[in-house]
Amino acid sequence: MRTTPFANRAEYSVTVFCKPMKKLYTHENRMIIYNLKNVLQDSGIESQITNEYASGGIGDLAAFETWPELWVLNSNQFKQAESILDGILCGRSGPEWYCRGCQELNDAAFELCWNCGREVE
Ligand SMILES: [Zn+2]
Repeated sequence: MRTTPFANRAEYSVTVFCKPMKKLYTHENRMIIYNLKNVLQDSGIESQITNEYASGGIGDLAAFETWPELWVLNSNQFKQAESILDGILCGRSGPEWYCRGCQELNDAAFELCWNCGREVE
């Protein structure tokens, strides 16, 4: 019987980085990245967040290198994702809403407050 030396090391797999992913957006606020991922998902676009837990590295790395990043898994959907993102960031996606928790203004496309994570009501 043949065994592969790395068969039990699947958790260290880096195959996801071999896909033709494209970086769509990066922001220091993780909630914004979560929201954008949700919005893309609603449009059938698969995306992935990287650097999610990297903020502990501030001090060793340039601050922007530790920001969470949003990657589009299928590069064929990148253009579509870009235009959705564009609509959100330019406020063209509908009426904005104020968070009842922290009074911050949120984009219509966001389901969670970018500042405190509270759900839209
Ligand atoms: Zn809030």
